[in-house]
Amino acid sequence: MMQQPTPCPRCGSLSDTFIGIDPAMRATLQEAGEGNLPDQVCSACFEKLTGSVSQGMKLRMERDVREKNKMVMWKNRVHLIKNARNLMSQKAYSEAAVQYEKYLRVLEVVYSLKKGDLSPAVFNNSTRSKELTVVASVYWDLMRIYDTNPRYTDRMQVSASKLSQFLPFSQIYPDILKKAELFARTAKNPGVMRTFLRQTKSRRGPCFVADAAFAHDPYAVELELLRRFRDERLRRTLTGRRLVSLYYRYSPPIARAIGRSQWKSAAARWSLAKITLLIKKNLNSN
Ligand SMILES: [Zn+2]
Repeated sequence: MMQQPTPCPRCGSLSDTFIGIDPAMRATLQEAGEGNLPDQVCSACFEKLTGSVSQGMKLRMERDVREKNKMVMWKNRVHLIKNARNLMSQKAYSEAAVQYEKYLRVLEVVYSLKKGDLSPAVFNNSTRSKELTVVASVYWDLMRIYDTNPRYTDRMQVSASKLSQFLPFSQIYPDILKKAELFARTAKNPGVMRTFLRQTKSRRGPCFVADAAFAHDPYAVELELLRRFRDERLRRTLTGRRLVSLYYRYSPPIARAIGRSQWKSAAARWSLAKITLLIKKNLNSN
């Protein structure tokens, strides 16, 4: 019996042949961006849709390959760092720089960033936040390597400004800052170094009270958290920045008092431990 032509629920044109869409096809089509598909469509629609299915499969496969490549690259970055450090110890500086630049490129690709867009925020609240210290150490080496050749002054400036961004979030901050002050005295580009030191210090001042309370342990987790709280939360709002500047005005005498007394310092550590617990929750909350 001849069926009366009815409008296709997808394209609306009259048709007497309708073809059902099976669940596998539907899933692939949804991934390719074809939402809200009716149970069956006209044969013209069906033909178009099968075209999109293969397109969708192709896209999915390409995406899988991209993801897999990113994982391989992420793992491979460890070798790049190892190679670079080996080359550094053999004084093969320009070869080391090539490895370091590759490493930075890997991070940009893994995080889908444009060249030069790597920033500490990329690693926020990530299990990869330890990478911040590695990145800082890479920019530190690059800055010194590029200082050796006047052709690379631009690159040195880029590395210096990146280092100044990353250093405050890394565990090597006090160490590198000291080394950088020494390096600045013999650098071929003392101007770049002066700017670097000024920028870095303005990004992170000392944390007087906490530094006094944890004087025995400059790498205490509490200190790191307090600094992060200051840099990532307080300094991003006007009220926060006012609080920080008030703190810097009134805290040095308090810090001196803490530094002189063992029990005051223990009491300050206890209070700071309580505060850091709250801060930890705040930092992780977003
Ligand atoms: Zn149709």
